Amino acid sequence: MDHNHHTKLKTAALALAVAATSQVFTFPGVANASASSRTTSVTQAQQTATTNTTALNKGLATNNRIYRTGRLAQVNCNPGSLPTGSTSAYRRFLTRVTDCLNRAWATQFRKAGMPFSKPRLRIITRKVGNACGGWATGAAGFYCSGDRTMYMLITKRELRQPFPLGIARLMAHEYGHHVQNISKIWNYYAAANARAGKAQRLQLSRNSELQAECFSAVFMSTQRGGSLFTEQEWDGTVEWFRQNGAKAWPQNDHGRGPTQAAWMTRGYNSGSPGACNTWAASPRTTT
Ligand SMILES: [Zn+2]
Repeated sequence: MDHNHHTKLKTAALALAVAATSQVFTFPGVANASASSRTTSVTQAQQTATTNTTALNKGLATNNRIYRTGRLAQVNCNPGSLPTGSTSAYRRFLTRVTDCLNRAWATQFRKAGMPFSKPRLRIITRKVGNACGGWATGAAGFYCSGDRTMYMLITKRELRQPFPLGIARLMAHEYGHHVQNISKIWNYYAAANARAGKAQRLQLSRNSELQAECFSAVFMSTQRGGSLFTEQEWDGTVEWFRQNGAKAWPQNDHGRGPTQAAWMTRGYNSGSPGACNTWAASPRTTT
């Protein structure tokens, strides 16, 4: 978590913000890959409303109906190719992946008997203001709960070296935060965060981030054998997170690399959101 960012915006709209830098990585036998970053936020407004009007309802996070919906729906997803240097192909790709995520998760919410709404998608080429206050350095993706918008930044580096798996994984992660938001898992998170001490806040952040990453892997598993990525690329990505997943974060608010890799693997192997219940998991598995 970026502390200055946090402190500065605490009195304004943003209660919680984290971001990491974009990273370029290479693994043997696979093309160069660009792993983008994540940013999360819970607005002060949401936090205040939740704190004032509801008791701390941990069941929203530990016993949410989304966990009892079985495997994530298989959707036919063809986001197309990502030719180097094409902003229009990049935009089309982001829009189509979002559409795939919408269809998969809409089915899941229907199964859970919970109302579903799509997030907004804003594709931008430079950082813009938003309801959550701002961008942290290096963030390529951002979900703002206040305006239910996924902000996806197209950077020159990603245009030079597009990596479909990395981009889809990032989108599915940000979408995972949207799932937490509309399933009300975040109602608990925000309320608990408001009364937590520092160590507890980091634990809550890890639960949220590891779950978003697990939800992402659940979606990625539905695209197994498709045009988005090869198994080798997936394995390489998990390995990259095992080794590097924590390096961008000054504090342990996303989990150690091996912890991130474990939740990715768990989500991918299971294919079900129920595998991603970090809130009920032993703290030993969310370090
Ligand atoms: Zn995140």
